[in-house]
Amino acid sequence: MQNLKDREQLISWDREYVWHPFTQMQDWLDEDPVIIEHGEGVYLIDIEGNRYLDGIASMWTNVHGHNHPDLNAALKNQIDKISHATLLGSSNLPAIELAQKLVEITPVGLNKVFYSDNGSTAVEVALKMAFQYWQHKGESQRNLFVHFDNAYHGDTIGAMSVGGIDTFHNTFNSLLFDTVQVSTPQGASDAERRTLWLNAVARVLAENGGKIAGVILEPLIQGAGGMLIAPKGFLNGLAALAKKWNTLLIVDEVMTGFGRTGSMWACEHENISPDILCTAKGLTAGYLPLAATITTDEIYSAFLADYSDRKTFFHGHTYTGNPLGCAVALENIAIFEREELIDKLQTTIAHFECRLQEFYQLKHVGDVRVCGMAAGIELMKDVDNTIPYAYEERVGIQVCQAGLRKGVLLRPLVNTIVLMPPLQISVSELDALLDITYNAIDEVTYK
Ligand SMILES: *Cc1c(COP(=O)(O)O)cnc(C)c1O
Repeated sequence: MQNLKDREQLISWDREYVWHPFTQMQDWLDEDPVIIEHGEGVYLIDIEGNRYLDGIASMWTNVHGHNHPDLNAALKNQIDKISHATLLGSSNLPAIELAQKLVEITPVGLNKVFYSDNGSTAVEVALKMAFQYWQHKGESQRNLFVHFDNAYHGDTIGAMSVGGIDTFHNTFNSLLFDTVQVSTPQGASDAERRTLWLNAVARVLAENGGKIAGVILEPLIQGAGGMLIAPKGFLNGLAALAKKWNTLLIVDEVMTGFGRTGSMWACEHENISPDILCTAKGLTAGYLPLAATITTDEIYSAFLADYSDRKTFFHGHTYTGNPLGCAVALENIAIFEREELIDKLQTTIAHFECRLQEFYQLKHVGDVRVCGMAAGIELMKDVDNTIPYAYEERVGIQVCQAGLRKGVLLRPLVNTIVLMPPLQISVSELDALLDITYNAIDEVTYK
């Protein structure tokens, strides 16, 4: 723990030198920041020794808790060997072993692993891979991607091009490439919504004939768009449509992968195997930036040719296949297997789902959406749930500030409070998270 003078120094340096992501810095400068010093399980501890339950798994990444002895050991062990060696022109032990393991645990047919550093790059790789694949197949007219409104695939230009969140992306519209965006239909029932939605995709695929390179989506649940749950069967139906129209299905499991939805991959819920799968956030259990884009033999093979044909996939990042990231990811997967975490998780999820229903007792809670260990609690201004809070009211931010005072660290998506704790949270810790969140919403929305 630091003394008070150090704390003031750190706060002033933070204000002077750090530009925080997705943050209106003018507001930030008016608040005292929480400065995290260390972590213990699901708790984050700041420089004054205050403990906060990590309600968002440190931006949806943490799996087994912070400062985990086995993950720490795996990392230290690798550090004593080598911290980085390039995959451009050589290979390294953890990168090879992790690729083998990822192929083993991902849906059947995904056999080739391309590494990068984060979710956005995993998506960029997927888009470029799909685009170039069609050129190699002699179908270079396939240069359009189909995606969905409210989709979030990252913040780089390509990932934004297939995104669908106006607040994030509108500023950059003139920089983004052309795509076909399919909007989410409203419908009375889940089944009705699924039918309308699939029909809309079918129409787009029919209208654009052979011009579609691929369809990209977040399976089961759109995260950053507001924790929006897709109707049951939608993913499966979409996979069938992609197959029917001979286009590629790209599944962005950056958030949903590594157990978040209650199975290792969201794809497993609907028994589908995509052409390309992107993984990042949970891959290193919240330890290091690492991502992978995993694809089929069919796509990989299309790039095999004489050197002079220039069919090489000309893409890569300096830290591609970083040994530290790969070593910690391997240990992450080992813990999943050793502790049978997916099985164990079912009890936690059942408890989570059940207790989340209590939030409907709060008059300003309009909707509670949950998919495995990811939930969104949407707040509404009026008690009939027809009028949303205005963006300017910052009600989501206020709830998170109230949560912080009560010992929980949260981060909203506008008026939706996100709960996404580390998967290894205990039932009693989960109860504390839910109780505090409930009280924070109560306090802010009834004042
Ligand atoms: C977070 C996220 C990304 C972007 O990942 P970064 O590591 O932040 O670049 C992409 N897709 C989905 C579904 C995500 O949730």
